[in-house]
Amino acid sequence: MMTIPMKTATRSKKPYHLASRDVHPESTVIQVGDVRIGGAQLVVMAGPCAVESHEQLLQAAYAVRAAGATLLRGGAFKPRTSPYDFQGLGEEGLQILAEARERTGLRIVTEVVDTEDVAVVARYADVLQIGSRNMSAFRLLQKAAETGKPIMLKRGFQSTIKEWLLSAEYVLASGNNQVILCERGIRTYDTEHTRNTLDLTAVPVLKRETHLPVIVDPSHGTGRTDLVGPLSKAAVVVGADGLLLEVHPDPSSALCDGQQSLSTSEFHGLMDELRPMAELVGRYV
Ligand code: PEP
Ligand code: MN
Repeated sequence: MMTIPMKTATRSKKPYHLASRDVHPESTVIQVGDVRIGGAQLVVMAGPCAVESHEQLLQAAYAVRAAGATLLRGGAFKPRTSPYDFQGLGEEGLQILAEARERTGLRIVTEVVDTEDVAVVARYADVLQIGSRNMSAFRLLQKAAETGKPIMLKRGFQSTIKEWLLSAEYVLASGNNQVILCERGIRTYDTEHTRNTLDLTAVPVLKRETHLPVIVDPSHGTGRTDLVGPLSKAAVVVGADGLLLEVHPDPSSALCDGQQSLSTSEFHGLMDELRPMAELVGRYV
């Protein structure tokens, strides 16, 4: 049952009372293992779109760790546009992610798409991802919040910043104060050269409006490998607290989102390029 703390509610003029910086001026830092999301370290979450096999995920995990990533991403439950596309390995995928955590020490961020799966995903994941298509699935937000795990809330591709912050408010009002926002691009009229339009304006807007950490996902935000590097750098410079990047050991054979996935060597190269960018804004990778 959700309860909105009325005392706090009367203190902010914003509709997203708990998310607002007016009520909570200091930035929230979310601790996941020994990683601090929202602190001085630029947090890089990397890995394949989907967990496809034991070999694929372990290869990706060792490679992203070697390049300096701090969390491992990978979907076991995939929200695909077509019902005929690969839907993910389900619990088997979660078990592979857990093994990768054990072997590499990387913490796991993975998506939960349905209220029915919240318990099983929470058993394995360190951070629960709510995908763009589910940003406004309020019951899912509440169920995920109730696990007490950090929630990474991706922006709905048709959602305003206010709607997004109100979705974050659902999690916060459910008693879970560990919310990470992830900008992943919005749908605009230009679909010829990009999959989505990455709204980097949202980053400084959010840093002003809310105390919650802000991550940028240039992989889904652009949909093209060649645009991931430039937009990652730009995201760091405008103040993102971290990046979510799709990395695959062999992007050409990926079952999901290969066209926007970096190879492990491209990822390595990008991490090297990001270091001076991070320094420029007083952060480190
Ligand atoms: C993903 O991160 O793999 C994903 C499905 O992203 P989005 O929900 O932003 O489309
Ligand atoms: Mn993807």
